[in-house]
Amino acid sequence: MNDAQFKEFCRIFEDIFTKNGISEYDTPENRQKFATLAEYLIEENQKYNLTALCSMDKIIPLHFADCVVAAKYIPAGAKVLDLGCGGGFPTLPLAIVRPDIAVCGLDSTAKKLGFINSAAQKLGIFNVTTLTGRAEELVCDRRESFDIVISRAVARLNVLAELCLPFVQVGGKFIALKGSAGEDELAEAQKGIVMLGGSVKSTDKYDIFTCGGAEKRLNIIIDKQSPTPIAYPRQFGAIKKKPL
Ligand code: SAH
Repeated sequence: MNDAQFKEFCRIFEDIFTKNGISEYDTPENRQKFATLAEYLIEENQKYNLTALCSMDKIIPLHFADCVVAAKYIPAGAKVLDLGCGGGFPTLPLAIVRPDIAVCGLDSTAKKLGFINSAAQKLGIFNVTTLTGRAEELVCDRRESFDIVISRAVARLNVLAELCLPFVQVGGKFIALKGSAGEDELAEAQKGIVMLGGSVKSTDKYDIFTCGGAEKRLNIIIDKQSPTPIAYPRQFGAIKKKPL
């Protein structure tokens, strides 16, 4: 990125982070890191499909700010799992702005995790690890072992809860980052969440401001109150066919 491109990046970054109430994370060091990440994402996206959003005015609001907003739900020093992290969202933005937490990105697609690991190396951040495979298979030796499980754009909540809640330790939280369909998804998933040992603590409804517009968000915060029965998660076919 040349000087003019970096200047333009900073202009959009400052505007979007201010509008979305996250300017505490707009530091010179973070600007450098996010600019490097944006450039690397665009470059690697030409080789393989990491994201549909590939211009700065989309990446900054819809990947960076959208994920950084969720930093406020995460307690200091937490061990976090991002289930279905894809090309690193929210894994990478959270790891950049919260050096106090440890973020593990889990995804079934190895090449996306390859991108995350090389991006973390490029950025000089050391609080990111990755896990390759399907969540419902990887859970067996990692049950109830994370303080926070977070997930964006992976599945409807009634499917997602069965994948995520088994990983959360009792006393921890499952955070589902949702869009305008969040309320309907929550109504449909309520019964299953309770069966899995969860309890809906709160929902956070707001607009994420983009370049020239806004999109609806509903983040759902679920407390893990009791251990998930060992019968869950079922195999993916069964989860999908008959969500709880
Ligand atoms: N969270 C990212 C990616 C969303 S795309 C973002 O918001 O940009 C959904 C991702 O979830 C894909 O990369 C897919 O491989 C992964 N995924 C879906 N079901 C999964 C499962 N059961 N186990 C592991 N990864 C899964």
